Amino acid sequence: MTEPEKKTVDTLQNLFESNRRWAAQKVVRNPGFFSRLLAQQNPEYMWIGCSDSRVPANQITGLDPGEVFVHRNVANVVVPTDLNCLSTLQYAVDQLKVKHVLVVGHYGCGGVAAALYEQRVGLADNWIRHVRDVYDRHIRRMERVSAERQLDGLCELNTIEQVIKVAQTTVVTDAWARGQDLTLHGWVYGISDGLIHDMRMSAGGAGDMKEAYLAALEHWEQKYCG
Ligand code: ZN
Repeated sequence: MTEPEKKTVDTLQNLFESNRRWAAQKVVRNPGFFSRLLAQQNPEYMWIGCSDSRVPANQITGLDPGEVFVHRNVANVVVPTDLNCLSTLQYAVDQLKVKHVLVVGHYGCGGVAAALYEQRVGLADNWIRHVRDVYDRHIRRMERVSAERQLDGLCELNTIEQVIKVAQTTVVTDAWARGQDLTLHGWVYGISDGLIHDMRMSAGGAGDMKEAYLAALEHWEQKYCG
C-alpha cells in the first residue's frame, strides 16, 4: 500500500498577521476594548443576511464586535424548520434582548438568481426552492417587470417575504405577545455602491405586519411596475 502523498499545508500566516495588526489598532484607538467585550455582549441588533462574502454585517453598518448578532445563509432565507436560524433568533431575542432584527438581502444575489433563472447548482437547489416559492407567490407582479430588473425585484421581494417568516416564528410571536420591544426590518444592500436600501417593511408588533407588508409591496410596485 502506498502512503498518501503529503501536501504542504498553507497555515494562512497572512491572516494571523493582519489579525494581530487589527487587534493592536483596536486597543490603540479604544483602550480596554477587548476586556470590556469579555464581560458581556450586549448587541442591540440581530442581522439575518446572505452568506455572500461581499455583504459583511459589521463593516457595512460600521458596527464593532459586540454590537450585532449575526446569522447568515444562502439568500437570507428564514425557514420555520431551520433549527440553526431559529436557535440563533431565539438566543438573540430571549437572552440578548436585541431591539431590532434586520433581514438584509442584497442586489445581484446568486441564490436569488438561481431561483429566478431556475439554474441547477446542486444540493442548494433544495434551499433555493424557498426563494422560488417567493417568485411563484408574486408571479403576477414579477411578470410586469422588465427582464433586466427582475433580479433586483426578486431580491427585494425575497427580503420582504423573509421578514414575514421571522414575524411568524414562535420566538417573535411570543416576544410580541409579552410586550417585548422588538422591531423587524427588511433591507437590501447594494454591492455596487455600498448602500443599504429600506424596503419599508418595518414592524414592531403583530398588529403592524399587514400594514407594513402592504406598504412594502406598494413601494415595490411603484419602483418596478411604475
Ligand atoms: Zn446572496
